[in-house]
Amino acid sequence: MAKSTKIPVGILGATGMVGQRFIQLLERHPWFEVAWVAASERSYGKTYAEAAKWKMKTAIPPRIAKMKLSAAEPAGAPKVIFAALDSDIAREMEPAFASAGAAVISNSSAFRMHPQVPLVIPEINADHIKLIEQQSWRKQSGGFMVTNSNCSVMGLALALAPLDKAFGIESVFAVTMQAVSGAGYPGVASLDILGNVVPFIKNEEEKMEEEAGKLLGKLKGGQIVPASFGISAHCNRVAVEDGHTESISIKFKKKATAEKIIKAWREYRGMVADLKLPFSPAEPIFYDERVDRPQPRLDLERGHGMTVSCGRLRPCSLLDWKFTMLSHNTIRGAAGAALLNAELLKAKGYLE
Ligand code: NAP
Repeated sequence: MAKSTKIPVGILGATGMVGQRFIQLLERHPWFEVAWVAASERSYGKTYAEAAKWKMKTAIPPRIAKMKLSAAEPAGAPKVIFAALDSDIAREMEPAFASAGAAVISNSSAFRMHPQVPLVIPEINADHIKLIEQQSWRKQSGGFMVTNSNCSVMGLALALAPLDKAFGIESVFAVTMQAVSGAGYPGVASLDILGNVVPFIKNEEEKMEEEAGKLLGKLKGGQIVPASFGISAHCNRVAVEDGHTESISIKFKKKATAEKIIKAWREYRGMVADLKLPFSPAEPIFYDERVDRPQPRLDLERGHGMTVSCGRLRPCSLLDWKFTMLSHNTIRGAAGAALLNAELLKAKGYLE
């Protein structure tokens, strides 16, 4: 058999909800190939099929099903690592991989707000990856760390980016209805969520409020100057399997009309359209004219889960405008986001 020319990648936390999504999305990736999977000591030494409680709607790829879970240590691991670990574990483990020379592309919150770690949504702030050059890991071993945002801020930041450019944002008020898959597996107990709404997700509102500023901030003099608009988030867990829906109100610095807002969304292609990255959706934002859309069950897979859907734009009697936004929490908000970041890094020569 011909030797693969794809870049070998490893997945830390490969058995979890985000790890499984990585396995699914990487199955036919043109540039990357899963060569190593690791999870906790509970899974070490088992085959992937034995260790993972597989929840994706496609079958486990046969090659991966037979793969043995490695110890979660840098020795023997590939030099490109997708990390899908809880933040407490990530805080210890991700620097060990970066110190050992790996490119760590992380999903956890542990280093998102670190001043030298880029928090990247390529369409919005691809230029922030230059922060990598300041990292001590990069200087010592060539390794580095790049993060993607919290799943509930991902779609919000994408919906806001073209509006901030066109009208300047003064303040944002966002109420989330977040899917259970966002809590990982087994996540929220069925008796807590069935027929119910849980109006608390630990640290989620804080993450939304601080990460939005960094994502929409500007790289100046080697540091990120956060965007200065005010933001208030209310986060709720609802009995939906996948897909975070948000009700958003917004106040602008300049006068905006519905036509101009929709045009800004529809024309938005972001910073990386010319790179033709495999996971880059043709339309980062889709505006749906139908009065009762977007809905998670009907609209989540748009752009293979990478397109953010907006709808119901109408005047707000407190701020200026309000709308509904839907994004896929484990694709656009997690594994797909990290894959797009990896593609950006490859296109910019960071994965040589
Ligand atoms: P999860 O389903 O609970 O999976 C956690 C993974 O970490 C499992 O593979 C688990 O392995 C592994 N793990 C646990 N302890 C470990 C240890 N000591 N050493 C090595 N691996 C260990 O969680 P998830 O939902 O996939 O989330 C992973 C990360 O992504 C979190 O930081 C989360 O906040 C973030 N995130 C999640 C979403 C989402 O929608 N779910 C979206 C954005 C970001 P075992 O199977 O062996 O226990």
